[in-house]
Amino acid sequence: MFRPLRCIALCALLACMAGQAARAAPANPGFYRMTLGGFAIVALSDGTHPFPVDTVLIDTTKETIAAALAADELALPLQGSINAFLVDTGKKIVLIDTGAGALYGDCCGQLLANLRAAGYRPEQVDEILLTHLHKDHVGGVLDGGKPAFPNALLRMARADADYWRSAASRQQAPDFLRSFFDSAADALAPYAAAGRLRPFDGEAALEEGIRSVDAPGHTPGHTAYLVESRGQKLLVWGDIVHVAPVQLLDPQASVKYDSSDGDAQRARRGLFERAAREHLWIAAAHISFPGLGHLGREGGRYRWIPINYETTPARSAAK
Ligand SMILES: [Zn+2]
Repeated sequence: MFRPLRCIALCALLACMAGQAARAAPANPGFYRMTLGGFAIVALSDGTHPFPVDTVLIDTTKETIAAALAADELALPLQGSINAFLVDTGKKIVLIDTGAGALYGDCCGQLLANLRAAGYRPEQVDEILLTHLHKDHVGGVLDGGKPAFPNALLRMARADADYWRSAASRQQAPDFLRSFFDSAADALAPYAAAGRLRPFDGEAALEEGIRSVDAPGHTPGHTAYLVESRGQKLLVWGDIVHVAPVQLLDPQASVKYDSSDGDAQRARRGLFERAAREHLWIAAAHISFPGLGHLGREGGRYRWIPINYETTPARSAAK
């Protein structure tokens, strides 16, 4: 027997459930694991945020930006990725950068959830290596004002540790950078108080298979890290690139947040050239998640070759 009222009620219920399902859909997965020799590398998303690249990029033209974005089927405002990278050597668990924590608002601060989703706990992290002390890299060392990684050493180039905690440097910096000094100092303080702040000088062997690589310019102590296992090499290059479609075509293009755009350009050209020549894996803080891939070179231009997606890497870290 046909019961229109019951049918209407059922249809309404199904429509409602469909709507709820859409609203309750979880975020896209925020971790991605690859194998590097005997190491496991895990890209961790801290989130994405609307990125007004046309007002952030300098040393290029509006026309270049528009053409580069159009060529990649992109439009403003872009969603900018904030990525960090965990290195599991089998002996140590090292986290390179930590995302923005609470400093970028609701968009971000997802690193801890993604770390746990990837099968790790914050207290397992032995060491944190920061590429530099901008908010979107250092903010995640704190969780509710306390160290998010209670057992980790916190390491970065001494040039950055000194610069971002200097009252004189803060005074001389442009207004829009002042709060970066405050957040960096706040982030480092509890680790320093616990005796777990260990800046390093210059290029150094930090852990088995991990070396720092000087790449100043974006900040005075901006540092890349070269991770090597069984002959495979990964360059975790921090903020060498903020807007890949533009800066791979025009490595001169810089960002207004650079401490020295001239030094940042030299660092970018140097690491682009090296990464292409040595066929290095790259782990990039601000290339679309997971930010893992290689650089191809065609004449003076580069192109991003993203990692070939793999559901289950052949081998996890040697234990
Ligand atoms: Zn950044």
